[in-house]
Amino acid sequence: MAKRKEELKVIPLGGMSEIGKNMTAFEYGNDIIIVDVGMAFAEESMPGVDCVIQDYTYIRENISKLRGVILTHGHEDHIGSLPYFLREFKCPVYGGKLTIELVRYKLHDKGVSLQGIDLQAFKNGDKVKLGTNFEAEFIRVNHSIADSYAIALKTPVGNVIHSGDFKIDYTPINGKTIDLQRFGEYGRDGVLLFLCESTNIEISGSSPSEMQVGESFERIFKNAEGRIIVATFSSHVHRMQQIFTAAEKYNRHVCLSGRSMITVFNVANSLGYIAMKPDTLIDISDIDRYEDNEVVILTTGSQAEPMSALSRMAYASHKAVEIQQGDTVIISAHPIPGNEKPIYRVINELFKKGAQVIYESLADVHVSGHAYINEIKLLHTLVKPKYFVPCHGEYRMLYKHAKLAEGLGMPEENIFILNNGDVLSIGKNHAKIVDQVPAKAVLIDGSGASNPDDHVLSDRRHLGEDGCVSIGITVDDATGELACVPSVNSIGFVFDDEKETIHKDIGAKAMALLSQGARKHDYIEAEVGTRQFREGIRTMLLDKTKRRPMIISTVSHIDSRHM
Ligand SMILES: [Zn+2]
Ligand SMILES: [Zn+2]
Repeated sequence: MAKRKEELKVIPLGGMSEIGKNMTAFEYGNDIIIVDVGMAFAEESMPGVDCVIQDYTYIRENISKLRGVILTHGHEDHIGSLPYFLREFKCPVYGGKLTIELVRYKLHDKGVSLQGIDLQAFKNGDKVKLGTNFEAEFIRVNHSIADSYAIALKTPVGNVIHSGDFKIDYTPINGKTIDLQRFGEYGRDGVLLFLCESTNIEISGSSPSEMQVGESFERIFKNAEGRIIVATFSSHVHRMQQIFTAAEKYNRHVCLSGRSMITVFNVANSLGYIAMKPDTLIDISDIDRYEDNEVVILTTGSQAEPMSALSRMAYASHKAVEIQQGDTVIISAHPIPGNEKPIYRVINELFKKGAQVIYESLADVHVSGHAYINEIKLLHTLVKPKYFVPCHGEYRMLYKHAKLAEGLGMPEENIFILNNGDVLSIGKNHAKIVDQVPAKAVLIDGSGASNPDDHVLSDRRHLGEDGCVSIGITVDDATGELACVPSVNSIGFVFDDEKETIHKDIGAKAMALLSQGARKHDYIEAEVGTRQFREGIRTMLLDKTKRRPMIISTVSHIDSRHM
């Protein structure tokens, strides 16, 4: 029997029908390579969860094939779960300079040993061989973090291009425009498969240049009379640069606030990515030595994260900075969808304290790092792929991106909207979803990992909504009787003024339920564990309060003969 011809398998383990935890495995013969290993933030329905990562079962089962991880750029949704991944699997990691340094810092911070992990930095046009079947090339793109790349993969069946996160900026801050020419060359030579991000597929036209934000900063800096406080994403090195540039132009010094801001600044500065005069940067503890109009504070907290520096300033719990009359605060970011409320709360607080607050809806103090429709169309036109997989988007975005590709002339059957875990098998002239591998979300909290079906999460939601009632029952072993009235406590269940009455009612109900039996201590102990007992309490509480708190009952023993 003739050996079946090998095909390229494309397996997204995250990043499909979601924005976050991007990770795609490419497999051919004996080689598997992975593009990006990002994390997702916990959703509101996951109380107490720190972050969400991918299911690594498929990698675990095929570990002997793993040849390396390629990173498109240093955002959390592309590198965030690497520490979890590299703790278990040792392999080389390739990426741009800033990306690799951020990963090095992250691994160190999370206590992951670098032993057996080869971190290698690449630049535009660099190529690296992975196994016998893959060669990857880094193609420069523009994005909201320096050193962002698309990845071109040479495989035995043809070329694959993964866009990474990108935009087309004709006037980027560092002068390095996306390498459109290289995309065009690949298009001319033939591209079998294109994976392209879909974040802004719903926005028509082209995204404004980062340069525009610099012009807004200059206008604001020129007119501000007091201190200037700018909150932005700590990873946005170009934005950071624009703030330093505007500060120097208007004779201001810059200080940094917030752990991640300081970390990324130090990494970027050590790579020579921040152009500034040596005395521009000052320590935040020294700001009182300068006049208000000589100071810029660059801070984290543009998403109103509760513990971030800006939130602490707004609520007067920051060690070095208290908001005062005359301050100008610029929120140089777009609220992550769903996060608007806490941001407006912080903005209200800043206004109350006498600051002028400038945010996106008032001025151009932020532009997106992701391509709008026209830019996406341009990349499709240059790459001219045979097959297409939209990625980095919720389902409706993937759908719209698929429609866009169809509109550009691609046959519908050559476009695949994949689920996480789908195995897309591609030959030179055909492509098909052939299998599914495990790709459920894995939730990480302080103590470990679990999956979303775990009852712990539904318990947490239950507790959060209806609170908890505890019933402590004490049995006297001498008599087998209840030693005293059950002690009742509750948290998050009823308001204080109702508490006493309800607690009494619960105690009485518990006694009534237990006295229906023979009151032998083993009987009482057994009775407390029954469904009947729990349901009896539950029904009474539902009648009286219309709530269903979690009920925890415990039995303890005393012996009055020994007292
Ligand atoms: Zn990104
Ligand atoms: Zn991303």
